[in-house]
Amino acid sequence: IRGFSNSLISTMNSRIPSSLTSRNVAVIGAGAAGLVAARELRREGHKTVVFERSNQIGGTWVYDPNIESDDPLGLNPSRNIIHTSLYKSLRTNLPRESMGFRDYPFVTKDGNDQRDNRRYPGHKEVLNYLEDFANDFKLTELIRFETEVFHVGLLKDDDKDGKKWVVRSAQKMRGGGGDGEAVDEVFDGVVVCNGHYTEPNIAEIPGIDEWPGKQMHSHNYRVPEPFRDQVVVVIGTSASGQDISRDIAEVAKEVHIAGRSLTEGVPTKLPGHENMWLHSMIESAHDDGRVVFQDGSSVTAGVILHCTGYKYHFPFLETNNIVIVDENRVGPLYKHVFPPLLAPGLSFIGLPWKVIPFPLSELQSKWVAGVLSGRISLPSQEEMMADVEAFYLELEAAGLPKRFTHNMSDYQFEYGDWLAAQCGCTPSEKWRKLMYYEASKKKRSQPETYRDEWEANHLILEAYEYFRQCIP
Ligand code: FAD
Repeated sequence: IRGFSNSLISTMNSRIPSSLTSRNVAVIGAGAAGLVAARELRREGHKTVVFERSNQIGGTWVYDPNIESDDPLGLNPSRNIIHTSLYKSLRTNLPRESMGFRDYPFVTKDGNDQRDNRRYPGHKEVLNYLEDFANDFKLTELIRFETEVFHVGLLKDDDKDGKKWVVRSAQKMRGGGGDGEAVDEVFDGVVVCNGHYTEPNIAEIPGIDEWPGKQMHSHNYRVPEPFRDQVVVVIGTSASGQDISRDIAEVAKEVHIAGRSLTEGVPTKLPGHENMWLHSMIESAHDDGRVVFQDGSSVTAGVILHCTGYKYHFPFLETNNIVIVDENRVGPLYKHVFPPLLAPGLSFIGLPWKVIPFPLSELQSKWVAGVLSGRISLPSQEEMMADVEAFYLELEAAGLPKRFTHNMSDYQFEYGDWLAAQCGCTPSEKWRKLMYYEASKKKRSQPETYRDEWEANHLILEAYEYFRQCIP
């Protein structure tokens, strides 16, 4: 599937050079992806600097009660950005054992009552885990905190092999002042790990400009209290849409969920809830406050909450249009990581979605580190480009829009195993795959209770046996 069976794999494995090169590498972002990238780059012998615009590690997992209140839809890319999209009640949507890095398991800390030992812990526990990871691997010494990257570009415009990169950054002034002086530095490689859950994607609704209510994107949702006694329309039925609508229903008068997958028939009440309804998508909004759904029903609502996902956004990247974001496809990228024309100098970690992100970012990072040192070879530019084009044709033939390019719901493990083979690592653990499938099934069948009713204990035992035997 998706171009993994081609002969490039054998070509690549047959070209392993003998000496390793240490490079100067910049990593942008100290979230889960940037941390594991930094660890792998240093392990491979690269001199690594991580640029992080906030004052701590963790990215998405750093909960912030503040929101972008001047722009609750997040329409203006130059607004005063709050990075995280976490809401206060958020618990993981994956069992912790499956979520962790491959060689640093996300296990319970029994006996420590400061920690959240649930199988699906709250967000703070994930941040604690990432902090443990950063401390144990001494990663903070590589990170320049409060330092934002504003520009990444080729040192010379005509450098088509992407050999040297300029990174322009500025450190925040101490005492809460603005940005300090911009500094340009030259690197052999730039690994982009800036996350992709910050720039909201908004649903288009005919008539919305005349509609008098309030709109917000889930990026700016934190707590249900502002929705008390309101009639709220939530657009989207993904993980956030489901969690947030239940959160709000605790205090709101009515919650109406509009989703693409809910198009059949008349609106239905969500089983077990007196004030939640499922609808088809919104057809239009009106100046009298009505929101009309495609199923013909309508409600007079005070708020529309867009749980409609995010856009990839790299405001600092200038590649003479060699890499672009087109309808939420970042490309062209060989195996979602290297732009063929700029490899190996430029790479992206953590773009895939509908995946288990931490272990996948770990494998991508190992691959990037190995390619930069010369331990692992890439195919020629032409071969990589042909692979990307074949992949795009496959998506098209399957009727999938460009925005699904990095959705790996049905092949993340195959992709991970391909990366593992490049790096000479063992493939994805069997228990992790089975745990993921079991968790997905349970989430669908018991959306209200799946986090607290795990039954497949044999998989947990297998996971812990693996941690005991395989991890030093
Ligand atoms: P991020 O965590 O977003 O980190 C990016 C970092 O880059 C940030 O620290 C940011 O400050 C920094 N940065 C950005 N731009 C710049 C710049 N120009 N200069 C310097 N620094 C910059 N995953 C799971 O495994 N389990 C879950 O249950 C789960 N639930 C989720 C729920 C929500 C609501 C969301 C939004 C995501 C969830 N995820 C979950 C996915 C989660 O995003 C990933 O687990 C992971 O945190 C992504 O890490 P990242 O490093 O790619 O990005």
